[in-house]
Amino acid sequence: MPRGIAASPGIAIGPVYILEKEDFCILKYRIKKDEIGTEIKRFEDAVGQSKKQLREIEKKVREKLGKDVAYIFQAHLHILEDPLLIRETIDRIKRERVNVEMALRETYRNFPQKFALVQSEFFQERFRDVEDLGERILRNLLNHPSTSLSNLKEDIIVISSDLSPSDTASLQKDRVLGFATDIGGPTSHTAIMARSLKIPAVVGLGNITKKVKPGSLIILDGNRGIVIVNPTAAQIKKYQKRQEELVLYRKKLETLRSLPPITLDGREVELASNIAGPEEIDLAIKDKTEGVGLYRTEYLYMNRKKLPNEEEQFEAYKKIAEKIAPHSVIIRTLDLGGDKFLSHFPVPREINPFMGWRAIRLSLGKVDIFKTQLRAILRAGFYGKVKLMYPLISGVEELKKANRILSQVKQELRQEKIPFDNKIEVGAMIEVPSAAIMSDLLAKEADFFSLGTNDLIQYTLAVDRINEKVAYLYQPLHPTILRLIHQTIRAAHREDIWVGACGEMASDPLCMAILLGLGIDELSVTPRSLLEIKKVIRGITWEETQKVASHLLNLSTANQVKRHAHNRLGKKIRRILEEE
Ligand code: PEP
Ligand code: MG
Repeated sequence: MPRGIAASPGIAIGPVYILEKEDFCILKYRIKKDEIGTEIKRFEDAVGQSKKQLREIEKKVREKLGKDVAYIFQAHLHILEDPLLIRETIDRIKRERVNVEMALRETYRNFPQKFALVQSEFFQERFRDVEDLGERILRNLLNHPSTSLSNLKEDIIVISSDLSPSDTASLQKDRVLGFATDIGGPTSHTAIMARSLKIPAVVGLGNITKKVKPGSLIILDGNRGIVIVNPTAAQIKKYQKRQEELVLYRKKLETLRSLPPITLDGREVELASNIAGPEEIDLAIKDKTEGVGLYRTEYLYMNRKKLPNEEEQFEAYKKIAEKIAPHSVIIRTLDLGGDKFLSHFPVPREINPFMGWRAIRLSLGKVDIFKTQLRAILRAGFYGKVKLMYPLISGVEELKKANRILSQVKQELRQEKIPFDNKIEVGAMIEVPSAAIMSDLLAKEADFFSLGTNDLIQYTLAVDRINEKVAYLYQPLHPTILRLIHQTIRAAHREDIWVGACGEMASDPLCMAILLGLGIDELSVTPRSLLEIKKVIRGITWEETQKVASHLLNLSTANQVKRHAHNRLGKKIRRILEEE
């Protein structure tokens, strides 16, 4: 029974759909002089076929989703009209006397280097599009149909070596029962998206793509991180029963909706939600969230032709602010890079993307994009309670720099007489160890902190959050993590600012209780966990969590912490969750 990492709870039973993402196997062979004409003809036919497909897709997308989204396919068609890709491939066939598949692949793979020298901005901006297009022509040459997650005819479970956050964001939710991937960790953005979309998922299965066949039946258990291939009738029955129990469990939790998140001894915590888009906000509001503690705005930039302009962002932020009223929404500025990329905004490929040009670093390097977003956020603040926070702050200078740009933007809006919230609260995410260590000084420059524990764990323990091979080292309850969190909360409280936690630790009942004990003021959780977390808060005392947390700070290994936390709090939490 393939075992992986439980990434999103729930059970799915259904047929397998394999989304192939791996490279094509292409042979390189030399052709004879008199074969050159045939190879070129094959290439031209494949290009013609690709154009036809693109025109059809463009038309369909335009009808369904509008001009804006369809533009990407027009851009592909433009590239096909441009002689550069075509001529270069044909020249290569003639010059190197290689088969067309190889000539084409070498051509589009060499684009970044080649056109870095030619001042063709059109191509420089579209390396990823060119790659995509090159693959389409290759598929046509090889008679290898492409797979897509947006036009499904039946309910399926997606199996893939990997899914990018943008694949996940664009999949057809009513058809995808669940997904399982070879790679990935519990806090990869793909896993986070799956939880937000309420799609059961198991990641980091190693080689599930090699163990299943398209169409075969599987059971996917997103709570335990297992996949059962070709289950027996008894197994299907057992899991169907579990599915029913989960529905019932969820129904019972709904009775907590209108009750406040308050511990037995009266400690009130603000319980907000993380969202990536408008869909989740409805789910969170239904479960009576006390605001949005993290709005991951980068999803607004994904699966579209170009960056959203100020007006579009303003409308999106304003809508969320109005919906969430009387509570507030914390809008995080763009957190691109790491495992989140856009097809229309090429970030150079990096060897260590999580350590590279990511989040606030990218915003500070692309000031126009940053300013546009800040203007939209500030303006939305005029119409509702909006707070702003920067991701991946690593030190005081960075925070000051971002705030200087914010002041400039305010000044510009003032001059233009455009209404905005001049007193907007500005927070720093604490998700880099250096920020936690400098939190006493950062607290003087910010109105609040939000702990991004997903990244804080990754950077502190040097464990890639999306690499399943090192997932066993990804330990939220490592003593170092608790110490850094404790240090941050103390530093913030000394400066009279509040601290929230929006990383996945806040959505885990045991970790959440420890965060409470360490003095956290606000929790922002995946909407799906809202009621479960509330149930735990209402079943424990703040005093007991404080006692346990202060003991944990003196332990020396993650195993000791886990054992003690489990014995002193975990067992009780399990009982609370099982209670009627
Ligand atoms: C985090 O790092 O904990 C966080 C909330 O941000 P993200 O998961 O979007 O990187
Ligand atoms: Mg983060």
